Amino acid sequence: MNFYVMTLFPEMILEGLSYSILGRARRAGQISVEAVNIRDFSEDKHKHVDDYPYGGGAGMVMSCEPIEKTYRYLCDKRKLRSRPRVVYLTPQGKVFDQQMAKEFAQEEDLFFLCGHYEGVDERVLDAIVTDRVSIGDYVLSGGELASMVMIDAISRMVPGVLTNEESKDTESFEGNLLEYPQYTRPEEWQGRRVPEVLLSGHHAKIEQWRREQSILRTWETRPELLEKAALSQKEQEFLEGRKKQQS
Ligand code: SAM
Repeated sequence: MNFYVMTLFPEMILEGLSYSILGRARRAGQISVEAVNIRDFSEDKHKHVDDYPYGGGAGMVMSCEPIEKTYRYLCDKRKLRSRPRVVYLTPQGKVFDQQMAKEFAQEEDLFFLCGHYEGVDERVLDAIVTDRVSIGDYVLSGGELASMVMIDAISRMVPGVLTNEESKDTESFEGNLLEYPQYTRPEEWQGRRVPEVLLSGHHAKIEQWRREQSILRTWETRPELLEKAALSQKEQEFLEGRKKQQS
């Protein structure tokens, strides 16, 4: 999968996505990341990429022209025949989640536009952007961190990026449940023991314990997810029993 990031800070993107699983996937050619500096496409003699907002008000707004030129440069360089999906990172967008990550991972080419200052002239957004996405209900200084968050989560869904040991199948949000608690050696640490069932070697019991812990965790911190989870009759009864104990 190929990611293209239109940004004022390409080094931030390339450096930030060069470690751990993402760095390995880039080196192996499972994903590619190209970050292009919008400022390089400014025809202003001072290389300005922003201007004052019409109607007044605080801050500056990123101009249409350099952004559209960056976009055309990338489309021409990649000889893209159809219009690619272009994500504009914005706090006003649809909130990113695991389901969206899976959906975006189906694309071969995915573009990101990182805003700065007060944002971007609406006309270039209307012209090139297909998806407006937020990474949460707070305001960042720029879209770079947000695009890196998305690229990380999407890349994990690209076949071959995760090894078997890093399997995503039991991770949080699979089946609308959070993951169960994890433990490693030693068996006892500062008086705290690993739950006995995990030391039992009894696979069916371990599976059942983990599933129950997932259900309880999700109920405690993200109850709205549980409404979409497919629980068996027995699991429903288990949860109802726990709810009663706690009330
Ligand atoms: N004035 C804008 C508003 O109120 O909606 C916020 C601009 S913000 C300071 C600058 C840039 O950071 C945005 O154009 C966007 O690209 C990025 N950004 C800020 N918060 C974000 C979020 N929660 N998710 C994704 N991108 C965000």
